[in-house]
Amino acid sequence: MHITYACPRCGNTDRHHGVEKIAELVCQSCGESLPIPDDALGSTNPDETSALRLRRCVVCPSTELFRRKDFPQRLGVAIVLVGLFASCIAWGMRELVLTFAILFSTALLDVILYFVMPECLTCYRCGARYTGNGVVDSFGGFDLETHEKHRQLVARTRSLSSGRTSAPPSS
Ligand SMILES: [Zn+2]
Ligand SMILES: [Zn+2]
Repeated sequence: MHITYACPRCGNTDRHHGVEKIAELVCQSCGESLPIPDDALGSTNPDETSALRLRRCVVCPSTELFRRKDFPQRLGVAIVLVGLFASCIAWGMRELVLTFAILFSTALLDVILYFVMPECLTCYRCGARYTGNGVVDSFGGFDLETHEKHRQLVARTRSLSSGRTSAPPSS
């Protein structure tokens, strides 16, 4: 299993391979070490290390993660834009069949790419991303309500910590 996460101390984005084999994540930028909690990776069969599954985020204690396709959105948008541009040229040349052939094939390419791309898990709270074996467990797809809950939680924590340093509370 691979993890891509933002270091809680320096904010540097780091990537580690084989999370199930290491005891801690060490930031390559500032050296901050994050021990991987024992309960974060669990297996239904204790003898089978290959069947290790992610139970919760190893960076933050959150158990809420969502499953999605590990598909770079920019690539998807780029494919569509290139297809649109090429079809406009074909349309300008009055090549009706070619226009629709281009539009159809770019849409098809997007669909094919979507299906061949592996799934990944993303932590709602800290944004850590997990790919590879053991990431597809009982976690569901993206839920806007959970996302909003965590967004507000982060915003509140941030305003609390900045309020503590800049201005004392009025009460
Ligand atoms: Zn760091
Ligand atoms: Zn997290």
